[in-house]
Amino acid sequence: MLLGIAIDTPLRRLFDYRPPADYDGKLEPGQRLWVPFGRRRLVGVLIEKRAQSDLPASKLRAAESVIDPVPLFDRELFDLIRWSAGYYHHPPGEVFAAALPTLLRSGQPAEAVEIEWRLTDVGRNEGAAALGSRAQRLRTMLAAIMSGTTRESALASVIARPSEALRELAKRGLIERHEIRPEIVAPTDSALESALELTPEQRVALDSITGSFGTFKTWLLHGVTGSGKTEVYLQAIAQCLARGTQALVLVPEIALTPQLVQRFSARFHAPIATVHSGMNDTERLDAWRNARSGAAGIVIGTRSAIFTPLAKPGLIVVDEEHDPSFKQQEGFRYSARDLAIARAQRHSVPVVLGSATPSLETLARARREPQTLLSLPRRAGNAEPPRMSLIDLRHNAQTQGISTPALQAMREHLERGGQVLLFINRRGYAPVLFCPNCGWSAQCPRCDARLTVHRRTHELACHHCGTQQPYAAKCPTCSQPTKPVGQGTERIEETIQQIFPQAPLVRIDRDSMRRRGELETTLDRVNRAEVKILVGTQILTKGHHFPLVTLVVVLNADQGLFSSDFRASERLAQIIVQVSGRAGRAERPGQVLIQTEYPKHPLLARLLDGGYDAFAEAALREREHAHWPPYARLALLRAEAPQPATAMRFLDAAHQAAEALSIRTVRLLGPAPAPMERRLGQYRGQLLAHAPAHGPLQRLMDAWLPKLEALPEAKRVRWSIDVDPLELF
Ligand SMILES: [Zn+2]
Ligand SMILES: [Zn+2]
Repeated sequence: MLLGIAIDTPLRRLFDYRPPADYDGKLEPGQRLWVPFGRRRLVGVLIEKRAQSDLPASKLRAAESVIDPVPLFDRELFDLIRWSAGYYHHPPGEVFAAALPTLLRSGQPAEAVEIEWRLTDVGRNEGAAALGSRAQRLRTMLAAIMSGTTRESALASVIARPSEALRELAKRGLIERHEIRPEIVAPTDSALESALELTPEQRVALDSITGSFGTFKTWLLHGVTGSGKTEVYLQAIAQCLARGTQALVLVPEIALTPQLVQRFSARFHAPIATVHSGMNDTERLDAWRNARSGAAGIVIGTRSAIFTPLAKPGLIVVDEEHDPSFKQQEGFRYSARDLAIARAQRHSVPVVLGSATPSLETLARARREPQTLLSLPRRAGNAEPPRMSLIDLRHNAQTQGISTPALQAMREHLERGGQVLLFINRRGYAPVLFCPNCGWSAQCPRCDARLTVHRRTHELACHHCGTQQPYAAKCPTCSQPTKPVGQGTERIEETIQQIFPQAPLVRIDRDSMRRRGELETTLDRVNRAEVKILVGTQILTKGHHFPLVTLVVVLNADQGLFSSDFRASERLAQIIVQVSGRAGRAERPGQVLIQTEYPKHPLLARLLDGGYDAFAEAALREREHAHWPPYARLALLRAEAPQPATAMRFLDAAHQAAEALSIRTVRLLGPAPAPMERRLGQYRGQLLAHAPAHGPLQRLMDAWLPKLEALPEAKRVRWSIDVDPLELF
């Protein structure tokens, strides 16, 4: 018998090993092993047992040792991870590595067991006297244990080769080994918040979801902002816990997690495990273990939490399912939302996709299966939806990007005690630094992009590669004064402070909210009414509640109206609707002003007349007509190289290789340079494969990718394949 093992390397295959020589325990897929790899020693995951190998027997090495006595994953999760490596055509070793917390990748035990070495009676009575005078290492170790240091992790630093000394002391009967399993601390019996009264629509949604427990079903919970989606999740999870099963909740942003965890722990006694990139390695491993043992009833996390093992899965929730952050954009390019569905199917549990602005993919599915659509069309407490209107920028004076009618509305809302939110999708001070004398502008030396002016740090920064340069007050070409052109959040902040010096203002973007916990403290200040004006980017659209905001101004809706990316309009509509949803709750009706130079643009007209539903209706018709997803499937082959011709040569060869396979329904578009060709000094190109369904694409990639790996041109480029790409560059 041989072992097919996944090892964290960029090769699209498994590696064959003989079983470890002296191992007589179980070997099952999903166990980790230490294996020799070249001159290194690596952790691998056993994927399958094989009868034979392509390698000659003399070349086969034996695995060194087995790490896990039992598989890390249940069959369903193991199957999901393995399947996703095939679906996304990504090297299986990297896929399994992505699915594991860092500490497990480096061989730490899956079970949380702490080893303690305690003195035996003999050890206590005889102590060091039992050791010969020359056993200095053993004496030092024993002295440490006698002084109360008993944990193996702490003893490891007492002397070199500690385990050898511990084994020797145990052999002489002076100490003995104990395993300690940490207890899971459940939250104390503080008074829990009780469930809220449900509207009839919420009741229907809840009953549908809970009625499907124990079966696979994909629900779309389509609720306008403020309609109480979270309350439906909470009550569904309460019933899920009552059945003795666990709930997995995926959220888009780390920033959102603490808010949600707070809401959940106010409601449930069940321990909650959180999984996101802001945690350290130990915290992540603890969460993983608590989820896997079943100790944590609820698991809340961002994208990668989809791979968290669950002892008793009962329900999966994907909140804000339209959010692009569910798609990993580099390396193993999976969609956590799509994998949530695939995982729910394997466990036979329901999955709830919730959003006020569902992705067109999800809406198209709900149309095919109308009984899976759960609508919450009204705001809770019968609050009025916000009133939206456009401001024509061509016919109104502006001050640094803010039109006179918008300023007038701000003044009125502030006077009446409301809060105002200004949304602009661009951080920094100004997107361009320009010389009016000679026409020079500050460019990133490594990308086809302009540098953004950051006033606060007196820097020019590239938002694509992170390059930073000192601010140039004088033009490097002609030495005349330069001028920042256009607006970012910093400049809006400056302008508004000058116009409304009395109104406390806060800027919320990635630059101002860098420190951990900063966003929560700021949001608290906003909700305590210590802040009157908020200026911010997309962070503001991510589900935060601002009950006191009565006016939202979208400063520039025009980015995205004319993009070559077929998803740009969907994204823009989602952002406008999400940010508008922050205006007005309960007794305060809200107003939304959208500044544009294209007031007649059909996208804006549809949004204003019929809201997101009308927009989505029309957008789906357009996609169907143009054969774009969700009415077609895509795979994007990207390549980059230091010379533009190198990347294109590889893509040309790839194009020919694909044509030679002649899979009839697959169309190849390109190769073409990426919309922003140069990034970080690399020239990027792409080739898009388009098919009416996933099947033909899968057949193409199965045959195509091995050919690409063998192309001589492949050695000179970095290339990757992106299945169901979200960004077409
Ligand atoms: Zn100049
Ligand atoms: Zn750059």
